[in-house]
Amino acid sequence: MAVCDLCASKAVWRDPASGAVLCGDHFSAWYEEGVRDAIEKYAMIPSGSRVAVGLSGGKDSTVLLTVLAKLNLDAEFVAITVDEGIANYRDDTISAAVSLVKRLGVEHRIVSFADVCGKTLDELLVSAPERACSVCGTLRRRALNAAARDAGASLIATGHCMDDEAQSVLMNYLRGDIRRVAENYHTNAGDLFIPRIKPLCRCTERATVAYGIVNRLLTPLPECPYTKYALRAGIRTELGVLEHKYPGTLSNIVSGQERLIAKLGVMQGEVTEMGVCERCGEPTQNRLCAACTLIEKLEHLE
Ligand SMILES: [Zn+2]
Ligand SMILES: [Zn+2]
Repeated sequence: MAVCDLCASKAVWRDPASGAVLCGDHFSAWYEEGVRDAIEKYAMIPSGSRVAVGLSGGKDSTVLLTVLAKLNLDAEFVAITVDEGIANYRDDTISAAVSLVKRLGVEHRIVSFADVCGKTLDELLVSAPERACSVCGTLRRRALNAAARDAGASLIATGHCMDDEAQSVLMNYLRGDIRRVAENYHTNAGDLFIPRIKPLCRCTERATVAYGIVNRLLTPLPECPYTKYALRAGIRTELGVLEHKYPGTLSNIVSGQERLIAKLGVMQGEVTEMGVCERCGEPTQNRLCAACTLIEKLEHLE
């Protein structure tokens, strides 16, 4: 490949948007500044915050924690790993997470689905494996919320990148879930849940993986065995093809979504009365929270 635009070193990255060609060091600095810009643009992290960082041990969250630790922000980080209980998958990613926090010197907590609802994801899904991603997503959100609250964090940072954002937007359209279309971006105003931030929301997955490779952060890990059931997996493939053919597609989907939310305006800052779940005590608008509703349904299937 060519030589870096900014120095004489060998280039490792060509930015599809600007055409800039960068070496490993300049690419890393460019990526880190991109994350800093997103944090500042959306005022994600107020000074002095204690931020819980969802750390699965996979590539996106590994890059997220590494960059956050490197940016010298006026904030304190506590990494939280949720062990869903997925055989032949989770143990490897957990050990990757443990060695990363040791290297970075970041406080770390691990919570398991078994602690939260008495069962592993594998046990919960025996009669309905095709529901894996929605069950896992709902329970993981609850586990992360409770663990972040226990850790005294006021924010939860997740490793969602631009591709995840674009996939979510399209998934909501494909399901006809217009309420989610309108709420998808920067929700959480006024509820009792700990607000989420996505510092990698302006970074593509391609750049995120490249950052991981250039900085030797990634170890080969198994893929989640439930991925094959996910609508997201199909959309991810199709969007990947579109982005390759028409660079900027992902960014257009995400910024179109932002413009839509800005136009609608109304759903932001809307405060909903929250009670607590009868079964687990987590905040909810209903008798049972989303997680407990799911667990009850799955128990009936067994
Ligand atoms: Zn360079
Ligand atoms: Zn509940």
